[in-house]
Amino acid sequence: MQTNLTQDGEKPKRKAIGDKLRFEVFKRDQFKCQYCGKASPDVILHVDHINPVSKGGDNDILNLITSCQDCNSGKSDRLLSDTTTLDKQRKMLEELDERRKQLQMMLDWREELKGFDNEVAQSVADYFEQHIGGAATVNDVGVKSINKWLKRFEVSELLQAIDDLNPIYTKDKNLDASAMFENIPKVANFNRKGDAEKTACYIRGILRNRISYVDYQKSIAWLITALNSGVDEEELKELAKTVKNWTQFREAMEDILNG
Ligand SMILES: [Zn+2]
Repeated sequence: MQTNLTQDGEKPKRKAIGDKLRFEVFKRDQFKCQYCGKASPDVILHVDHINPVSKGGDNDILNLITSCQDCNSGKSDRLLSDTTTLDKQRKMLEELDERRKQLQMMLDWREELKGFDNEVAQSVADYFEQHIGGAATVNDVGVKSINKWLKRFEVSELLQAIDDLNPIYTKDKNLDASAMFENIPKVANFNRKGDAEKTACYIRGILRNRISYVDYQKSIAWLITALNSGVDEEELKELAKTVKNWTQFREAMEDILNG
């Protein structure tokens, strides 16, 4: 029985498959014959109709499949015995579509997050204006800085830093609000340090204000060691308040640490 005729008896028109479509089919099928698995360039690949043109199959990408010469000629006008290949294609296309959608969702979500980050930064800026800025307002550059700080610190740490700066600013109205603003990450960083380190920084500050030369790294290392080994913090403060120069401080610290 003739099989290459449609029911109304007319021979179906075969439309040529353009290069672009062929390429899409090859790409989707990873340049492999979907029947036997042989790949380009070992075999010459063709684009085959799953549902033959003679049976009404069209050039929709879902009806096209990559086939090698042998498989293409052997299959001729027969329909695939099962639909697994077609199902597989549909599934792949659906997955691709789903991946595109999810990518778009992810991009949207990132935009949303960015918007949210800005809201958070803006609320930190508001908090600063209320507590320190006075008449000063945090501009866009300031909000950008806060956004940068928020990569290192929690919101609560920045708010705490502003709280800590507040009494200093309130005490001395001559202080520049923008200098206060720049101190926010420094204070937040300071707050993170352990107690011994904070106390050591404080004591070194006393020393620095009193004598002309201080070895920053050595003094902090000695002070932390002393505090961690149980030396009374008041004793160290008293020392920092009374030594006349770096040499005196160094000798006293050596005594404390060795004895
Ligand atoms: Zn093949």
